[in-house]
Amino acid sequence: MPELPEVETVVRGLNSMILGEVVKSVDVLREDSVGHPAVKQFAKLLVGHEFGLSQRRGKYIVTSLSKGAHMVVHLRMSGRLVLREEPHTPQKIKKLVENDFLRIRIALESGRELHYEDMRVFGRIWYVPKSDTVGGIVPGIAALGVEPLTDLTVDYLIEAFRSKSQPVKNTLLDQRIIAGIGNIYADESLFLSGINPLLPSGSLKEQQVEVLVGKIVEVLSRSIELGGTTLRDYQNLSGVNGDYQNAAWVYGRAKETCSVCEDIIERVKLAGRSSHYCPTCQPVSKAILRRHEAASRALKESKNSK
Ligand SMILES: [Zn+2]
Repeated sequence: MPELPEVETVVRGLNSMILGEVVKSVDVLREDSVGHPAVKQFAKLLVGHEFGLSQRRGKYIVTSLSKGAHMVVHLRMSGRLVLREEPHTPQKIKKLVENDFLRIRIALESGRELHYEDMRVFGRIWYVPKSDTVGGIVPGIAALGVEPLTDLTVDYLIEAFRSKSQPVKNTLLDQRIIAGIGNIYADESLFLSGINPLLPSGSLKEQQVEVLVGKIVEVLSRSIELGGTTLRDYQNLSGVNGDYQNAAWVYGRAKETCSVCEDIIERVKLAGRSSHYCPTCQPVSKAILRRHEAASRALKESKNSK
């Protein structure tokens, strides 16, 4: 799933590659990929707009268009934007639909095409006319929490953690608290902070939160430098994979040895996602582990009885 650094990489790609391009025509090949307005309107309204600056808000890509309109993209599980230069013959398009799950073609006056591809069709593109606000049209964007790279402070996170008994990992994944941190970067920043993902959020000391804020910024910035994480479903705008995964400390490395202390990396389920940690670098009490195991068992049994 694309996370903040991947989305940031796409935004930078859009700004360097399609700024000033004008939309010539739009072809929607899969109606579910359009979030707003109705498909026919979407295709018609987008034509003639010039692409302005793109910005990232959480994992949303918000592109300003001429005449005060906006285009918003959320890649969700497997969406991606690809700029294609080659001639777009019907045979070529057919192949792209079959092999690359091409869903929306945005043909540009320059002859190039911006393609939206999405295997699992969870992602969306919205057109927001001047008369509407992005927050009013695009679900979820108005409720997003702070941007970790620019607005996250120690005081804010202490307040967000205060009196919460849920594991710190779950709080980091809550998009209403911090926008854009997903599974990979939550695991990585907790490792570098020496904080176990199972610890109750409210139990962290001020000094730990201070370290964590610094590590979140460090991990995200480093990943942006490397062009995001290499994931099966993620590619940047030119179709080149990012490189963060090779640099991961714990994410995706269950049962491998920790590169700091050589202990074996553990994996647990939290908020429905796999969490990875080193039991030596990120200690946790037996009582908390037992509580987590009991809660997981109870969850499993309640699912089985349904
Ligand atoms: Zn370790």
